[in-house]
Amino acid sequence: MRWWINGILLIILVVLVIPTFIVKGCSNDESTPIILETEDREDFDVLSIDIETIENEPSILIYDHINKKKMEIPLEQYVVGVVAAEMPASFHIEALKAQAVAARTLAIRKMRAYGGRGCSKYDTDVDMCTFYGHCQAWISDEEQKENWGADYIANRSKIVQAVEDTRGLILTYQGSPIEVFFYSTSNGKTEDASEVFSMQLPYYKVVDSFGEEDAPKFKEEFTFTRREFVDIFKKHYPNSKLTSKNIESQIRILNHTQSGRVGEILVGGIKLKGSEFRSIYGINSADFEFQFLKDKVIIYTTGYGHGVGMSQVGADRMAKEGKSYTDILNHYYIDVEIDMGY
Ligand SMILES: [Zn+2]
Repeated sequence: MRWWINGILLIILVVLVIPTFIVKGCSNDESTPIILETEDREDFDVLSIDIETIENEPSILIYDHINKKKMEIPLEQYVVGVVAAEMPASFHIEALKAQAVAARTLAIRKMRAYGGRGCSKYDTDVDMCTFYGHCQAWISDEEQKENWGADYIANRSKIVQAVEDTRGLILTYQGSPIEVFFYSTSNGKTEDASEVFSMQLPYYKVVDSFGEEDAPKFKEEFTFTRREFVDIFKKHYPNSKLTSKNIESQIRILNHTQSGRVGEILVGGIKLKGSEFRSIYGINSADFEFQFLKDKVIIYTTGYGHGVGMSQVGADRMAKEGKSYTDILNHYYIDVEIDMGY
């Protein structure tokens, strides 16, 4: 080989290859992603996994009752926070999609921009509060990171997917968003809305809900001393004839609803609904039975929640049997349509 060819090759090496190596070497030090072991992830501030906001998407004004602040956020981002708060992320994605549609329906129905009345609880002039007992639960991205720790990325991605796949969809009846109810676990059947809330809604009928027997709260028992049992009742009904000695003779279940929950019950001469008895004693379900012992009263419950509309555990079971979110929603909400909400 001629000397000048060697010289050119050397120049090519110096000018092109060596700088490339140096530059690559430098940038590598700064940009190689840090791969964390699972146990390290809790301390690592992982990047948020966000849902994209699209052009015509409305915003919702919420009141975060834990942090006591108002926030305006894009609707689909809000739905992600609701699903994260209201349903275990371990549930089947079709159940998470059904929950996303239910959450979005409740939001649109309450939003003042769509003729809703907003939230009246905190005197804050917002569309929704984040208290589960009033509007619906919602948790921020930070709270999701805290709750899920090492599972944050997997859980959040799954929920974002469920919300994205149902983007904009809500449940309607005769063209309007329905009054949505859902709860944790049924007793095997759903309840008619009129048995729990004093309203008649055509899309709530008693339907079977299968496969919930193994759910953690399907069966529970609540134990009260005789004194506690009487005191709790008298706080609500001071004129009741109930005493710690006459409990057995002063309690009579008068009837059951079509779903097997207690319809009406007579306690110390006072007649009340099973659902009201449930809320007075803070027990899981209006499907309950008593056992009276010498010094205590035990109440055995089946199911967890009011029973109206979708059972979340039931939705998960249906999904695991291959049903889609539309099958689930059409099972629990009768004769409704699934439409675009905005
Ligand atoms: Zn509220």
